[in-house]
Amino acid sequence: MRETAHQATVDRSPDYAGERDRPDEDIGAQRLFAGPGEMRALCRQLDWSRTPLGPVSTWPLSLRTTVATLLASRHPMFLFWGPDLVQFYNDAYRPSLAEGGRHPRALGMRGTEFWTEIWDIIGPQIAQVLAGGEATWHEDHLVPIERNGRIEEVYWTYSYGPAFADDGSVGGVLVVCQETTARVLTERRLQTLNRELEVERSRLAYTFQQAPAFLAILRGRQLTFEMVNEAYKQLVGHRELVGRDLFEALPEARGQGFEAILDRVVATGEPFVGREMPIMLSRAPGGPPEERILDFVYFPLVEADGSRSGIIAHGVDVTDHVRARRDVERLLLESERARSEAEEARAEADAANRAKGEFLAVMSHELRTPLNAIGGYAELMEMGIRGPLNDQQLADLHRIQQSQKHLLGLINQVLNYTRVESGAVRYTVEDVPVAEALAAAEALVAPQVRAQRLTFAVVDCDRAIVARADREKLQQILLNLLANAIKFTDAGGEVRVGCQTADRTVAITVGDTGVGIAADKLASVFEPFVQVDQRFAREHGGVGLGLAISRDLARGMGGDLTARSALGVGSTFTLTLPRA
Ligand code: ADP
Repeated sequence: MRETAHQATVDRSPDYAGERDRPDEDIGAQRLFAGPGEMRALCRQLDWSRTPLGPVSTWPLSLRTTVATLLASRHPMFLFWGPDLVQFYNDAYRPSLAEGGRHPRALGMRGTEFWTEIWDIIGPQIAQVLAGGEATWHEDHLVPIERNGRIEEVYWTYSYGPAFADDGSVGGVLVVCQETTARVLTERRLQTLNRELEVERSRLAYTFQQAPAFLAILRGRQLTFEMVNEAYKQLVGHRELVGRDLFEALPEARGQGFEAILDRVVATGEPFVGREMPIMLSRAPGGPPEERILDFVYFPLVEADGSRSGIIAHGVDVTDHVRARRDVERLLLESERARSEAEEARAEADAANRAKGEFLAVMSHELRTPLNAIGGYAELMEMGIRGPLNDQQLADLHRIQQSQKHLLGLINQVLNYTRVESGAVRYTVEDVPVAEALAAAEALVAPQVRAQRLTFAVVDCDRAIVARADREKLQQILLNLLANAIKFTDAGGEVRVGCQTADRTVAITVGDTGVGIAADKLASVFEPFVQVDQRFAREHGGVGLGLAISRDLARGMGGDLTARSALGVGSTFTLTLPRA
C-alpha cells in the first residue's frame, strides 16, 4: 500500500469535483470506473486525489482490480483499502446504508471515521485479517448501524477476507456481506408464532378433552384412532383406542350400517348428520353390547392439500334424554287413551241416563191413569153407590185408598224428578221474605210435628230477610227438608229452623236431633234413589228422590243445598239462595 502526499490534506468527507477539472486524472478513472450504476458514476466524480489513496492514476494494479471486481458484483461488497482503510462499496451494498446522508458520504472515507458506532466490533476483525489471519465468517450477526436517522438493529451474514496487494501482502479487507435482518426477524416472528400456535393447540386439545360432547379423530383408510376425548372413552367403556383401527377397537360396532356412512363421507367430503341414531356398544370392557342413542356428525378430515384423510366424529349421547322423552310421549298417549275411554263411558252413561229418564216419564204417566181409575172406583164404592158396605169392607176400602194415594205420591215424585232433571222446569223468581215462607211451611207440617211429639223452633229469622226465589219451589224444598227432619227424628226430639245472611246470599237451615247420617254416606244422600237405610226408610215411605230434586231446584234458582250430620246426634241441611 502506497502512502501519498495527499494524505495530510484530505478532509473527512471527500470532494466531488467536476470531471473536466482534472484532465490527467480522468483518463485512468474513466477507464477504471466505466460502466453503468450509481456507484461507478460516483467513483468517476469523486476527486480521489483528495483521499489518502491519491489520484486513480497512482493506484496499484491490485487495488484497481479489486475495486473493478467489487463494482461489477451484484453481491453486496465493501472494501477497506490501505492503512487508512479507505472505503469502497457497490450498488448492491447501498441499501444497507439507507437514507439519511450515510451514502454517498461513506465512499472514499476512512473506516475509523465512518464506522464510529461499531468500530469496537469490526475494528478487531479487520485488524486480524490485515495481520494475515484467517477470513472471518459471521452468520446472522447483530451489527447495529446508524441508518434512517437512528441506530437500527441490523443482522448480517458476512465475511472479512484479505484483499491482496501487488506484492502478495494483505493490502485491504474485502467485506462480502448480506443483510439478513428481514430473514432473522421473520424467523423470530415464526418462532413466536409457533410458540403461540403450540399454546393454542394445547388449549384446544384441553378443551377437546374436557368437552361434554364426544370427539374422535380417525385417520387413514383403516380409520385409525388418532385422538379421542374423555366423553368418547366414556361412551365406549374406556377401552384402548389410540393407534387402533375403528372396527378392531370396537368390533361390536361392525355391521350396524356405519361402514357405508363413513366410506361415503370420506369419498364425497359431505358431512353426515345422525339424529337419535341407535348403536349397540359395550359400555364396560368385555360387557354385552347395549343400545345407546346418539346425535352426531361425521366430518371429513381434510388435509392442507385438500385431500381427505379420515373422519372427525363429534356428538352427544342422548340416550337418557330420548328415553325420558319417549316415556313422556307414551304416558301422554296412555292418558289420552284413558281420557277418550272415560269420555266414551260418560257418553254411554249419559245416554243410559236419558233412556232411564224417558222410561220413568212414560211409565209414571202410564201408571197414573189406572191408579186414578182405582181411586175413582174406590170413591164410588165408599159413597155406597154400588150398594151398602159393611164395616169390614169399608176398612179394606180405606186401606186401598191409602195405598193408592201413596203410590200416586211416589209416581208424582218420580215424574217431578224427571222433569227437573231434563231442565223442563220453569222458575218464576221473585222477592220472597224468608220468615213468610218458613211460617207457611211450618203451618203445613204442624200436625206431623204434634203427632211425632217433637219441638219445633224457629231461631233468629228477621222479617226483613228477603231471598230471590220461586215461591212454589222454595216451599217444595222446605217441606221436603222438614218432612225428612220429622221422619228421621224420634219422639221428644227437636226440629230447629234458622236463617242467616251473608253479603249476597241468604242461608236457611233445617236441623234436627234425629238419627243422623254417617259421614261416608253424607254426599250420596243427594244422589237420586239413595236411601241410607232402606229398611228404615221404607217404613217412612219415600223413594230417595226428595233431596236430589231439592238440590236441583236450589241450584236452578242460583243457590245450593248442603248437609252436615253426625250419626245419632242429628242433621242440619243448609239451603242457600241469592239475597234480594
Ligand atoms: P226419601 O224420600 O227416602 O226421604 P230423600 O232424598 O229425601 O229421600 O232422602 C234420602 C235419604 O237421606 C233418606 O232415605 C235418608 O236415609 C237420608 N236423610 C234425609 N234427610 C235426613 C235427616 N234429616 N236425618 C237422617 N237421614 C236423612
